Amino acid sequence: MKLDPIETTPSISMGGPDITEREIQEVVQVLKGPSLSRGERLKSFEREFATFVGSAHAVGVSSGTSGLHLAVLADGIGANDLVLTTPFTFIASSNVLLYEDAVPIFVDIERETGNINPDLVAEAAEDLDRRFHSAGQHWLPPTLRGQLPKAQLKAILPVHVFGQPADMDPIMKVARTHSLSVIEDACEAVGSEYRERKAGTIGDFGIFGFYPNKQMTTAEGGIIVTLDAEADELMRSLRNQGREPNCDWLAHTRLGYNYRLNEMSAALGLIQLRRLEEMLAKRARVASWYSERLVDLDRLQTPRIAQTTTEMSWFVYIVRVDSSLSRNRVLEELRERRISCRPYFPPVHLSPFYVERFGYEPGSFPVTEELGRTCLALPFSGIMTESQVDYVCDQLRKTLD
Ligand SMILES: *Cc1c(COP(=O)(O)O)cnc(C)c1O
Repeated sequence: MKLDPIETTPSISMGGPDITEREIQEVVQVLKGPSLSRGERLKSFEREFATFVGSAHAVGVSSGTSGLHLAVLADGIGANDLVLTTPFTFIASSNVLLYEDAVPIFVDIERETGNINPDLVAEAAEDLDRRFHSAGQHWLPPTLRGQLPKAQLKAILPVHVFGQPADMDPIMKVARTHSLSVIEDACEAVGSEYRERKAGTIGDFGIFGFYPNKQMTTAEGGIIVTLDAEADELMRSLRNQGREPNCDWLAHTRLGYNYRLNEMSAALGLIQLRRLEEMLAKRARVASWYSERLVDLDRLQTPRIAQTTTEMSWFVYIVRVDSSLSRNRVLEELRERRISCRPYFPPVHLSPFYVERFGYEPGSFPVTEELGRTCLALPFSGIMTESQVDYVCDQLRKTLD
């Protein structure tokens, strides 16, 4: 977020991380010390993060995506296994299933929150549990209908979209009824709470992401939380090339990966975690500045917070542009006014390689596609000033006139 020194019009970027001298000093300390990876910072970060969310185990990894991948592996999801998930997401939550040749079974979302619709989750689980009666087939991707006679429904992978938890109680009920595991993609929801429980701690696995645009950052990085001690040990081995803990240097017992989180990132994460409450409060304040200024615009809808969201962790600030207007026109006009903004999310099922592989067509998931057409992310971060919010809102009003 900078004022351009040459031009007179300010340019407003999407937002950036909130880094203080404390983070800088900690990272510098790592560089002056003996270990840049697999050291004490990572252990402390994992311990403090587990305590913060109230989980038994936390496994630091190189990204949110690698965390999701390890959870899929630790959960035993493999080729042709079916997993109920959402097409309204950042693509990683669905791609990690493809890494293992599992099949994402997309379920449409709730209009209010953009999160997976628990009634549809229940319906799909019911239909697919009576394994491959014709009732279940229409949930499968078009190209796979009738092709997977032995496939089994294994898990539900909800995503807490934009920082707001999915409706977990009914999802957990479906999971219990049909013996499914639950992997929560909490990459956008660090610190948010569903009925006073931390997002990411309700299912079997919760994954958080720390890319620089997230509420807290380790530059690149992520963490997985679980109560399952065996899964914890397996994921520690998998992130470290398949080595057992405390084993000899080159003793690899299984196919593993290099998904480790380095010490500089862990040091950065530790300070960010200790500052998280402050950073989330600043983000909430920026969100409220936006909402105060935009709530009266009748062709724009400001974010809605579900009753079940007892703590909101603001990842992005999303407005919905009325369908009588073109979101893309608003987006372009804002960009012409040197304000960054983004369409959020392009539906996963309509991205080219999903279309090619699975045969999806527009109309497959109408609510997802509606939100994909109307949602607009405005510049947003905890370090935005009130006058920057003012400026963005003034410009946005002009584009609506
Ligand atoms: C950010 C994010 C991830 C993880 O992204 P990485 O860049 O791999 O850290 C996963 N799922 C969702 C929904 C996200 O927003």
